[in-house]
Amino acid sequence: MYDRKSMKAEEFIDHEEILETLDYAERNKNNIELIDRIIAKAKERKGLEHREASVLLACEMPEKIREIYDLAEQIKKDFYGNRIVLFAPLYLSNYCVNGCVYCPYHRKNRHITRKKLTQAEIAKEVTALQDMGHKRLAIEAGEDPVMNPIDYILESIDTIYSIRHRNGAIRRVNVNIAATTVENYRKLKDAGIGTYILFQETYHKESYEKLHPTGPKSNYAYHTEAMDRAMEGGIDDVGLGVLFGLELYKYEFAGLLMHAEHLEAVHGVGPHTISIPRVKRADDIDPETFDNGISDEIFCRIAACIRIAVPYTGMIVSTRENQKVRDQIIRLGVSQISGGSRTSVGGYYEPEPEDARSEQFDVSDTRTLDEVVRWLMTRGYIPSFCTACYREGRTGDRFMSLCKSGQIQNCCHPNALMTLKEYLEDYASKETADIGNALIGKELEHIPDEKVRKIVMERLSGIEQGDRDFRF
Ligand code: SAM
Repeated sequence: MYDRKSMKAEEFIDHEEILETLDYAERNKNNIELIDRIIAKAKERKGLEHREASVLLACEMPEKIREIYDLAEQIKKDFYGNRIVLFAPLYLSNYCVNGCVYCPYHRKNRHITRKKLTQAEIAKEVTALQDMGHKRLAIEAGEDPVMNPIDYILESIDTIYSIRHRNGAIRRVNVNIAATTVENYRKLKDAGIGTYILFQETYHKESYEKLHPTGPKSNYAYHTEAMDRAMEGGIDDVGLGVLFGLELYKYEFAGLLMHAEHLEAVHGVGPHTISIPRVKRADDIDPETFDNGISDEIFCRIAACIRIAVPYTGMIVSTRENQKVRDQIIRLGVSQISGGSRTSVGGYYEPEPEDARSEQFDVSDTRTLDEVVRWLMTRGYIPSFCTACYREGRTGDRFMSLCKSGQIQNCCHPNALMTLKEYLEDYASKETADIGNALIGKELEHIPDEKVRKIVMERLSGIEQGDRDFRF
């Protein structure tokens, strides 16, 4: 029985409710009056319910799809301006006891090289990441209570935050590790993590169980209820995600929004981010073996519909996607992307040898961070290395209410410019720095408050003199 406030996975992600939603969407996909009403509601920028958003996703009328895209673009501009936040993944260990059939870290894979970084190796990796210009990391690890216990993760977070190299610093560590206990989430919170990210992979319970045949991750309810435990442990920024390609995308889309509605209903705050990865080729994984792969066109439509359904939730696209797809999709509502990523355990400090590869999946966008930064700026975006919100305590419902009221932009735009300036001073190539400095000059004009503009200008020259880490 569907109940968004229930604490039971099978009730807040109720299978029948999803099937009825898909049926409703299918019946109404050409219902122009209803679609117009839903688009009008979406224009109020307060989001949509999963049934409404599912109708838009199912819609096949080209002129309405155009309207959906235009609205997604407009909402992105209104909530996020032209900023794109940059981050990199850092793989700590690929030891894993699970049997996920899409992931090369599955236990039975004897072919992949197993690695676990020591604290000294983490320090080297972090130094290399700082030297690229990164300030924000997402740490990743397989699930292995013996090899990667929570104490190892906590110690690694401490190491990451402690490394200082030249002007470098990692200022926000997001964590993507397996579902765990309230007690462990509390420890992660105390370690100062940013967002706790956990991909649902699929909301379809029967498929989930087939795709996760063995190991602790095979427990659908424990995995699906993880965000509630994380929130109970005091983590108020959580990141959802679906691995597109495993199940029917319309099913996943409805499930994702129902999960967001559940978090909002129970905890008063929705997800901080939503990630939209697609299954990629990897060591012993062929994405063609999964029947539900989606085209680039559908992928973009999903992004646009997420943007208008949950306007206040950040959206993340990784280097699983190539430059062409990222070009299309960032316009439609993506707020964070990774750049210069390695999905191997180690590999930032020195490349892995050919005969000892540990990557989780093939990266499609192989450009350096400098190239990604330059590309964003030539497309009119401000690459942002900002980590201010969480360091100023603007998390959870504080972040959400600021974001919903549109106020977040009064801090974010200046912070983006100042962190970009740091990047240009410390890490950029000459060509990137020239483009960036011209962009900052132009963007200063868009700070409406004269006092704020003056402070930002002073701080920008402070950065040129060697000062760092200003924030609003
Ligand atoms: N072990 C943790 C867990 O189970 O949630 C951490 C996750 S793993 C390091 C990060 C994510 O990579 C997974 O949640 C999954 O969605 C994604 N992933 C796994 N195999 C993939 C593949 N072949 N292509 C693309 N993404 C993949």
